[in-house]
Amino acid sequence: MKVESPVKSDQIQELDHKQSGTLNLLNSTQLIIKEAVRKLGYNNKMYELLKEPIRTLMVRIPVRMDNGSIEIFTGYRSQHNDAVGPTKGGVRFHPEVNEEEVKALSIWMSLKCGIANLPYGGGKGGIICDPRNMSLGELERLSRGYVRAISQIVGPTKDIPAPDVYTNSQIMAWMMDEYSRLREFDSPGFITGKPIVLGGSQGRETATARGVTICIEEAVKKKGIKLQGARIVIQGFGNAGSFLAKFMHEAGAKVIGISDAHGALYDPTGLDIDYLLDRRDSFGTVTNLFTNVMTNQELLEQECEILVPAAISNQITLENADRIHASIVVEAANGPTTLEATKILDERGILLVPDILASAGGVTVSYFEWVQNNQGYYWSEEQVAEKLRKVMINSFETIYQMSQTHEVDMRLAAYMVGIRKSAEASHFRGWV
Ligand code: GLU
Repeated sequence: MKVESPVKSDQIQELDHKQSGTLNLLNSTQLIIKEAVRKLGYNNKMYELLKEPIRTLMVRIPVRMDNGSIEIFTGYRSQHNDAVGPTKGGVRFHPEVNEEEVKALSIWMSLKCGIANLPYGGGKGGIICDPRNMSLGELERLSRGYVRAISQIVGPTKDIPAPDVYTNSQIMAWMMDEYSRLREFDSPGFITGKPIVLGGSQGRETATARGVTICIEEAVKKKGIKLQGARIVIQGFGNAGSFLAKFMHEAGAKVIGISDAHGALYDPTGLDIDYLLDRRDSFGTVTNLFTNVMTNQELLEQECEILVPAAISNQITLENADRIHASIVVEAANGPTTLEATKILDERGILLVPDILASAGGVTVSYFEWVQNNQGYYWSEEQVAEKLRKVMINSFETIYQMSQTHEVDMRLAAYMVGIRKSAEASHFRGWV
């Protein structure tokens, strides 16, 4: 039976989003930003500007719970750099949200927007809560309270939120409605990832997976591998993982492994993807229906052409990087490969498509949604898919060329391309 939950996550981290690694997320992000800024020829002042968000707001949100009690939630909104334009990025609802993580992820959004060449800087928000244990009414009051709390620093030309881990189009709709009421005019451009009827874009739901798919198509070309018949292993069966499995299956690739938070399914002759898609619940759980499951760690080490970690961070580490038997690793999750492991994969000749490139499809279609809202004229799904394809191919190629020219790995190349726009815009504005 399909289990329905009030919340269907937009994002990729459908497995339990662990705290592990997030403490170091800001540090490791800053480390690569430092190197990228230096390689681009900027001085240390530019790094000083870009290493932290320009603004991070912490808010406390009182919410009346269904049992009549009041609970006080803590939320954040962080804006990394608004030299290029308004900031942009999702809002996550998760028990392990914390300020450092939100700050780091706002920097990541600047990188993603830079990579996709969007007229935005990066932003990110989060609320410490567990939406899996909240009713729809509680979630609505929390979403509206959050918008009231951050309303001064957000808006269609200031900072535009979107879905992220455990937030969805319904939550975006409540937030848009609250913002429109506060401002006393309809403001669809305040937020993206809305339901279509409220100004959402065609193709937003599948955008992240489509972006990953295009990266895979480009990566196999570089490696001289034929996608038709190529073996692919996908860790995670949430929004990105499950749609990706569908697209890969349709493209003729052989999906031989998938997993969820509880375990992994593996069949070297290819899994029945249609069946699995039909049976997954809204948190991406499917392995509970089977007995012959292997562990997530074992799955990562299976031989394949393409490995896609689409779940949580820190999955490919110093410990197992030598045992990865794939030609291409495409990071659909945030931070699934540690920096040490990135080096090992690079030395072993494995082509790594970094997270900030592979997952840029979501924010790209968010940008399309915002453009459509601003112009009041809407595009077909085909138009959106075509525009997304152009952006992703261009982003992939720019980063690939950057990595070749500067003889750096794809991750550093992605950071260089990603931070370049914020640096240039900050420079032209006379900030540094
Ligand atoms: N939360 C998504 C991301 O991290 C989408 C952000 C957006 O659409 O603004 O890329």
